[in-house]
Amino acid sequence: MMNYKAPRGTHDILGINALGMSFLELKAKEIFKKRGFEEVRTPIFEDAALFMRSIGNTTDIVEKEMYVFEDRKGRKLALRPEGTASLVRSFIENRMDILMPASKFFYTGEMFRYERPQAGRYRQFHQIGAEFFGNSSPAADAEIIILAQDLLSSIGINGVNIHINSLGCQKCRPLFRETLVKYFSSVQNLCTDCVRRLEKNPLRLLDCKIDSCKFTNAPQMLNYLCVSCKDNFNTVQTLLKSANCNYAVDGTLVRGLDYYTRIVFEIRSKDVGSQDALAAGGRYDNLVKELGGQDTPAVGFALGSQRVLLAAEKQGLFNSFKISEKIFVAIADQELFNEAFSFAVKIARNGLKDNKDISVFGPKNTESLTNQLKFADKIKASKVVVFTKNEFENGKLLVKNMRDRTQAECFIYEV
Ligand code: ATP
Ligand code: MG
Repeated sequence: MMNYKAPRGTHDILGINALGMSFLELKAKEIFKKRGFEEVRTPIFEDAALFMRSIGNTTDIVEKEMYVFEDRKGRKLALRPEGTASLVRSFIENRMDILMPASKFFYTGEMFRYERPQAGRYRQFHQIGAEFFGNSSPAADAEIIILAQDLLSSIGINGVNIHINSLGCQKCRPLFRETLVKYFSSVQNLCTDCVRRLEKNPLRLLDCKIDSCKFTNAPQMLNYLCVSCKDNFNTVQTLLKSANCNYAVDGTLVRGLDYYTRIVFEIRSKDVGSQDALAAGGRYDNLVKELGGQDTPAVGFALGSQRVLLAAEKQGLFNSFKISEKIFVAIADQELFNEAFSFAVKIARNGLKDNKDISVFGPKNTESLTNQLKFADKIKASKVVVFTKNEFENGKLLVKNMRDRTQAECFIYEV
């Protein structure tokens, strides 16, 4: 007996889920291409300090969710918990802040967070994300929100809600921060994390999964925005409206990462239970500079592929992630093995005349035809093409329909 199991919080992705994942990534790549986003593949692990510095030392991700380890030379590394920090590191390291100051990138891949596993929350999960560098215009914010929404609708997801908020800038946030500290100091029985956050990073309390229910009357950033942040927030909304994008302003929305400035957003679905955020993102105008690059504004988002697929399944979309029709090539006479094999290669390359979307199995071995047909049933082949000596001599073969058990002769060139 095998006693090995995938580590807690991780899953094998197979069957229809693997098809769904590929389909989602394929659609995403089509859309990214049309909108000028280029792919970047960054390493799965980075210097742990990169994430500590960018995501923030007092965020849940850095405090308790990162997979940090030392390599044999004692370097402190971390499995990436998200994509933006790596993208920004790559953007700077490859001097794109100088060479391509206005550029759009996307990524897809695994992220790792040591979280309590539950539906829609795993320790290894996939994200698809995009980052738009060098454009501080509200048009870039609106473009990113619409892009995330279009990605979801490209695979047929509907009924999502877009929540947006503004977290202000370095000018207006300090006053908000002060007001928050005053407010939280009056709340009784804060959890131990929140007590610590209150000193180091009061905005983080708003994101606390334990205490947030106690904060219904907490002050909201929207009431503290400076004139230019307010203008910016209004313009993003005007642009979203002009593109017929439905959204709701949600003053309670905060994000679990420190680098955000101004607009933040989340796209939620009622179809995935309590982990309802399918995608999230926002603007991070200071991060490139903070990590040592040229001052470059940026905005981006990331979508959680597993959660999107959960929503897709609930909405009955899995039928469209069809497994292609299986064709089994059988031989009634052993001497036709080579011909049958070369035929199988040909249809694997070109498909059948009436169906290009097939998958090909066989020819197998010297088993009796009955056993070959049993095998074809086992793999759920819809058709079996049989090479028999009599037919082959006349340039023909037999096609058995495994669904209704009918069979027909046809010329090889017709198949
Ligand atoms: P949440 O509040 O749900 O924990 P987050 O703020 O931590 O989300 P982000 O870091 O913004 O999430 O990641 C973007 C998206 O990635 C989320 O909206 C979600 O769909 C997905 N995601 C985040 N963490 C996980 C996880 N542990 N397992 C599966 N998907 C996840
Ligand atoms: Mg989280």
